[in-house]
Amino acid sequence: MCKYNGYSRSHEPTGMPYQFECPRERCSFMLRADGDGEAETLARAHARVAHSSRIAPADLDRWIKPIETA
Ligand SMILES: [Zn+2]
Repeated sequence: MCKYNGYSRSHEPTGMPYQFECPRERCSFMLRADGDGEAETLARAHARVAHSSRIAPADLDRWIKPIETA
């Protein structure tokens, strides 16, 4: 009766994985997230916590890059 007709409950993530590498000297922080929005949030949090500073949106754009998946 309750058959799933090829329907999958789990979403394909619409975004691709993104990577952020902290550009600051002597900081080797790197993160990955599913989507640029999440990467941005985490990158901002890192800058705030680790460097007591904020990242300009233009810089976020430069430092957050999609990860190429094979
Ligand atoms: Zn950092």
